[in-house]
Amino acid sequence: VEDDGMEISNIQIFIQEEPESQNFSANSLLPSEVPFNNSYSPLKPRNYQVELALPAKKGKNTIICAPTGCGKTFVSLLICEHHLKQFSHGRQGKIVFFANHIPVYEQQANVFSRYFERLGYRVAGISGANADSIPVQHTIENNDIIILTPQILVNNLKNGTIPSVSVFTLMVFDECHNTNKHHPYNQIMFSYLDQKLGGSADPLPQVVGLTASVGVGDAKTVEEAMFHICRLCAALDASVIATVRHNVEELEQVVYKPEKISRKVESRTTNTFKSIISQLMKETEHLAKNVSAELGMLFQIQNREFGTQKYEQWIVAVHKACMVFRMPDKEEESRICKALFLYTSHLRKYNDALIISEDAQMKDALNYLKHFFQDVRAAAFDETEQDLTRRFEEKLEELEKVSVDPSNENPKLKDLYLILQEEYHLNPETKTILFVKTRALVDALKKWIEENSALSFLKPGILTGRGKTNQATGMTHPAQKCALETFRASGDNILIATSVADEGIDIAQCNLVILYEYVGNVIKMIQTRGRGRARGSKCFLLTSNADVIEKENVNVFKEKMMNESISRLQMWDEMKFAETVRCIQTDEKLTRDSQHKPQPVPDRENKKLLCGKCKALACYTADIRVVEKSHYTVLGNAFKERFVYKLHPKPKIYDSFEKKAKIFCARQNCGHDWGIHVRYKAFEIPVIKIESFVVEDIATGAQNRHSKWKDFHFDRIQFDATDMSK
Ligand SMILES: [Zn+2]
Repeated sequence: VEDDGMEISNIQIFIQEEPESQNFSANSLLPSEVPFNNSYSPLKPRNYQVELALPAKKGKNTIICAPTGCGKTFVSLLICEHHLKQFSHGRQGKIVFFANHIPVYEQQANVFSRYFERLGYRVAGISGANADSIPVQHTIENNDIIILTPQILVNNLKNGTIPSVSVFTLMVFDECHNTNKHHPYNQIMFSYLDQKLGGSADPLPQVVGLTASVGVGDAKTVEEAMFHICRLCAALDASVIATVRHNVEELEQVVYKPEKISRKVESRTTNTFKSIISQLMKETEHLAKNVSAELGMLFQIQNREFGTQKYEQWIVAVHKACMVFRMPDKEEESRICKALFLYTSHLRKYNDALIISEDAQMKDALNYLKHFFQDVRAAAFDETEQDLTRRFEEKLEELEKVSVDPSNENPKLKDLYLILQEEYHLNPETKTILFVKTRALVDALKKWIEENSALSFLKPGILTGRGKTNQATGMTHPAQKCALETFRASGDNILIATSVADEGIDIAQCNLVILYEYVGNVIKMIQTRGRGRARGSKCFLLTSNADVIEKENVNVFKEKMMNESISRLQMWDEMKFAETVRCIQTDEKLTRDSQHKPQPVPDRENKKLLCGKCKALACYTADIRVVEKSHYTVLGNAFKERFVYKLHPKPKIYDSFEKKAKIFCARQNCGHDWGIHVRYKAFEIPVIKIESFVVEDIATGAQNRHSKWKDFHFDRIQFDATDMSK
């Protein structure tokens, strides 16, 4: 399955609030204009920062809610310093600061070290990257401030290395709105709350949360929003929500809210490209319907609209249903499954192309398809594929003609062009972030800019996610960092990004944010705004969909509702608030305790893994071994004959693996992507992904598919080096 679809907002990169440096300078320049200063001039907090820190300094559990870019990290430094100093006699203070993402972790570890080491405190950090080589317990014992990625503490509380959260006297949660569901933050707080509600005598640490937005969830009224916020307070055991109330003017001078402009743009009125591709899709659906009487039913649903995300979801569901289709005649089953696999893959590509042509140029969409068909030719290229390729090629000339016809230019791009022209004319130093829906669109818009001579003043860079399923096509973490660095240090002046670049990336000089057919939730909106914080910055929302503008209005409404809810809660008396919070905590603990599900019993029956495309036997579950907890390999020579591999041009190293090749089904005309081949310690082993296979029960013949290994409950056997010598 491909990964050109919608990016889930699976945020990989998270460089946040670097301009804490603003506080290390006595003047009031904008953050972006202040060079980071290594030597510390006398630090002078702003009045609003003192205001925000006050309740936490009084020892209260506090959620600090203030806009991105206002210096929340500095507020936390003030709180931590005050906290450690109050322990000058007898007992010692111990602070843990949690950061969700490695870049933030690195940055905080750096800031805290520099700030506290001059005061004589010991600062250390543990992240997923160095956790194996650092004795966690020892590090916590020997330092005053420990910076952690939260999963480290969750793991060590679970395995008993750290007996309880009572070893700390203060816990600080960065981006604390994440304290919900199964997030590691919440798991840490479960442990805290179990101790609190269980009446333990051990002292509990003070809790401080930092966020730009507490959010309102699905709330439709202020009352519901208040409840949502109370739940967050309950999760963090907070008794105070600190916002800037007395020094609003001063805050507004520091954090500038960009002007937000919604623009309704028009789609093309006639679209020959779309009708040709739609015709090809209809034909392909028809072919698919005729492969099998039974499965043909799947294709009879009416009212599907080509070129939509909905169609994408539908075709993926059909694709999965076809993979587990069973027949008494296994040869026939293989033929049908493979044919349907091909039809549904082609339908997805056509659908992708329509999405591209909707937001970018027709020729981008056409190139996307031409590339796909080139790859098809280069691979197995069986009869079905030849037939589909022929059908496409029959239309190719017409598609080429339509795509270069100037009258088919995308009016949305014209609008984007006008905005860029205007803004760079007003300010040639403008730095832009352009958000788009999919990775394919990132590439298309980059090309559009590069090929458009009237936009030669733009130097585009790109920023995308690591990819859901296919590591090869995404951007690696170092590559993301590098792209951001180039953008920051002049070089590029427009960064085209998918939602990966969403939360809190700090690009200090960015003064134009364009959301191109793109919507996010309320938290995203505020942080996108925080990004364009230079004075005079603007945020454009460009869309042809009136619903999108409506959604954006809803987001603005939600933000107002959130602010209103916070002010109302701040007016409650402390007793009433504490009681409400306590009530929620008790309720949720009851629910949590009653939901403790026993681990699913693994099915010890040996099962077959069949190729998800041609249904050929791949291996048995008894031959599967688990490597480093989450990777799966297959033992034995029989398996080696069932796949072929293609070397990867740029081998990559991640965790303890060196990825060397991709592996494919060896069966003639199949070539289904099964996974990768890696070097692990002294071994060269295949690593397979379960989503490429169908699991067959040997006794009953029942077939199932799983998209993730963790959902497949079989008897897991750990990898053992001695297995390899057998
Ligand atoms: Zn196969």
